[in-house]
Amino acid sequence: MDVYDALRFSVARISNELFSAGSIFSVYSLATTFVIAVCALAYQRKKRRGRANLRAIARAIFNRKILLTASFAADVKLFVLSVVLMPVVVGALVISSNAVATAVSAGLRSSFGATAPVACCDLSIKLVSTVVLFLAYEIGYWVDHWLKHRIPFLWEFHKVHHTAEALTPVTNFRNHPIDNIFFGYMLALFIGSAAGALAWFFGRTTESFTVDGKNILFLFFLWTIGHLQHSQFWIPFRGLLGHIVLSPAHHQIHHSADSEHFNRNFGSVLAVWDWMYGSLEMPSRTNPRLKYGVEEEGVDPHSSFGLLATPIVKAALALWRALADAWRAGIERMEQRRQRAKSTGVL
Ligand SMILES: [Zn+2]
Ligand SMILES: [Zn+2]
Repeated sequence: MDVYDALRFSVARISNELFSAGSIFSVYSLATTFVIAVCALAYQRKKRRGRANLRAIARAIFNRKILLTASFAADVKLFVLSVVLMPVVVGALVISSNAVATAVSAGLRSSFGATAPVACCDLSIKLVSTVVLFLAYEIGYWVDHWLKHRIPFLWEFHKVHHTAEALTPVTNFRNHPIDNIFFGYMLALFIGSAAGALAWFFGRTTESFTVDGKNILFLFFLWTIGHLQHSQFWIPFRGLLGHIVLSPAHHQIHHSADSEHFNRNFGSVLAVWDWMYGSLEMPSRTNPRLKYGVEEEGVDPHSSFGLLATPIVKAALALWRALADAWRAGIERMEQRRQRAKSTGVL
């Protein structure tokens, strides 16, 4: 592949990301988000000041101060990397959810016997399948995210997302490639297992409501509040709604540099998993003007080196420390057993 081919390939990938309805960064999803942001800001300003100045709202949405930050430039770099290269890498490395589904349904058939194919109710089955696969995505996302905050080796890669100091919809792409690959495995595991269980239960492969192969419920949330989770607009859901759906403000709390907010609101769209686990942090009604980012000594978290190489070195050190701790704990346990055996006269 020469430079011209590489350029053509990159442009095709980026235009596919922008113009296919099922993509995460489609212009359609950005347009609906823009309309929702204008309405939400106009409502908030009218309530606060008695009138809504549309020019001021447009200035707030396209905030030059944010677009000129090193943090935003780093988001754009990772956007290009992840849109151009990641589909190739993830596609080659990650097992597909179809392979997991086939293995799970075969496992269920051999453990519990085959079920007769359900010959009716196509629409209801499609509806059930759409909801179940959406829930599988949501649980997979939560578990993946929780693990990345609990395990130091994984945190070093996930930290790249948290070093963003200004949140914009492009921050969604601010992920280390290894973080993306791990996410791909987790999704294949959870969505594939759910699809396999559905296929076994209904005795046949089920279909879901999709657009461009993406679950319609996932797209509904992406086209409404998804992009606003990475934005500077404080749009809080409170009360019962805030216990069920994560508002943009919920995710902004997840990015907060305040240690009181660490390890809160792990979910994607649904707040119920955080509610059940006890990690749900409800946003306040008024904007607390949160500071975002992670303190990193001696590293520029927005440079290409800081974004891509530093996490690999730090993750390797974290893994080394974990292995050394496990080794030391093993030796201590062996010594304690030897001492016990000696004192009871076995040795
Ligand atoms: Zn996180
Ligand atoms: Zn985020």
